[in-house]
Order: sequence, then C-alpha cells, then structure tokens
Amino acid sequence: MKAALSVEELCVFYGDTQALWDVSFSVQSGQLVALLGANGAGKTTTLKAICGLLTPAEGRIIYEGRTISELPVHDTANLGITLVPEGRQLFPKMNVEENLIVGSYLGRAKENRQRNLERVYALFPRLAERRNQAAETLSGGEQQMVAIGRGLMQSPRLIMFDEPSLGLAPILVQEMFGVIQELHSQGLTIFLVEQNVNQTLKIADYCYVIENGRIVQEGTGREMEENPRVREAYLGF
Ligand code: ATP
Repeated sequence: MKAALSVEELCVFYGDTQALWDVSFSVQSGQLVALLGANGAGKTTTLKAICGLLTPAEGRIIYEGRTISELPVHDTANLGITLVPEGRQLFPKMNVEENLIVGSYLGRAKENRQRNLERVYALFPRLAERRNQAAETLSGGEQQMVAIGRGLMQSPRLIMFDEPSLGLAPILVQEMFGVIQELHSQGLTIFLVEQNVNQTLKIADYCYVIENGRIVQEGTGREMEENPRVREAYLGF
C-alpha cells in the first residue's frame, strides 16, 4: 500500500506556546486511520496543519509524494484534501443545497458539481428531501450530514473529520459512524479525529493516540482495545 499522507516530526506553535511535539504518523491510500485523544490533546491543531490553516514550525507533511507543509488551504483543497470541521460551520440562513454547493467552487470540484450532488443525495436521502430547507431548521444530525456532504462536494481524495459525533444523540452517533464506514468501503482515504474511542476502534484500520501534543500509542483497532493503558484511560475498564 502507498502512503497517501505522511506526517513527520511535526511541531506547531500558537505564539510562544507549543501545541504539537514531533508528531509523526501515516495514512495509507484507502485506509481509515484515527487520531484519538482528550480535549486539548492537539487533534484539531494536527488537522489544521495538514490542510494549511496553520504553518508548522518544524517537520514535514507529505501528501501523495509531495511536500505540502507550506501550502495554504485553497491549494491543499485543490490537491484533494478536505476537512469536515468540528461544529459543522454551516451558513444557517442558506438552504441545504446552497450549503452543499459552497464546497464545490474550486477546480475539479466545480466540474464535478452535479455528479457530486447526486452522490451526496444518494448517501443522505434526507438531505435530498430537505434540499430547500434553511440549515438552521435542521436537527444536529442533519446538520452534520450537510457538513459531510459539503466536504464530499470538494471531490476529496483524503477526507478528514474533526469529531463528527460530537453533540449527537446516541442513535445518530451510530448513523454517523455508519456513513464514515460506507465512505471507507467506497475506497476514500479517511483520517478521523474522535473522542468516541469505543466506536472508533471498531471501524478504524489503524489508530494513533495523542496526549499533550505527543503521539503516545499506536496500533490496529484490536490492538488498542487490548492495550491496558488505552482501556484504562479511554474505555473505562
Ligand atoms: P478539542 O477536542 O478540545 O478540540 P484538541 O485535541 O482538538 O481538543 P487542540 O484544539 O488542537 O486540541 O488544542 C491543542 C492545544 O493548543 C491546547 O492546549 C489548546 O489550548 C491550544 N490551542 C488551541 N488553539 C489555540 C489558539 N488559537 N491559541 C492558543 N492556544 C491554542
């Protein structure tokens, strides 16, 4: 398997405060890789550095063989990297379809707009029914679907999710993980950031655990489930 994404010894600062220390990991093409960790561990910072919203002080980010550490977000988006951000960040007064189309303004995403829209509606039939409804009138779960749909409108080759299950009712959490699994089975490369360790370990091919800005554990979902330190710290048994 070929590495779609390699992160090598990444160090990121906010002003004088260091948030990431020598963070290294890789995601193979077609894999679903998870980054697990508590609040403030450095998960969002890692995602922002990969997609070009933050510039690393040290280290390298290599995507499909090319160093992208210095590229701004519109360039990484054009290379096929999409972030579905925490908290959805929709335009509340715009309807579902308008929010989806926001994801399709760059390069090849624009060319594939109609095909991608059909794909999103096939994946989320409820969004097709509500295409003319303002985003603010949707439930939390439906808003999360719009955020994922908007990401898919970018024609991603690597899609990254920042805590997609956050704030959702348990039944919707199941549904959300089902959608991520479906995208994985379609062959998309996925980097999933989550605090829902239990669910994530069931679907991830490989996992990394981040604590205080450092990767402290790694392994397959099964290895993680059997790891006493992970069980105690994240699974509560
Ligand atoms: P959460 O689940 O709460 O989003 P996280 O694992 O995504 O947590 P980050 O948001 O990456 O964590 O934060 C990592 C560290 O960087 C934390 O100590 C946080 O306080 C700090 N930090 C994050 N954003 C900023 C910022 N804009 N300015 C200064 N420090 C920040």
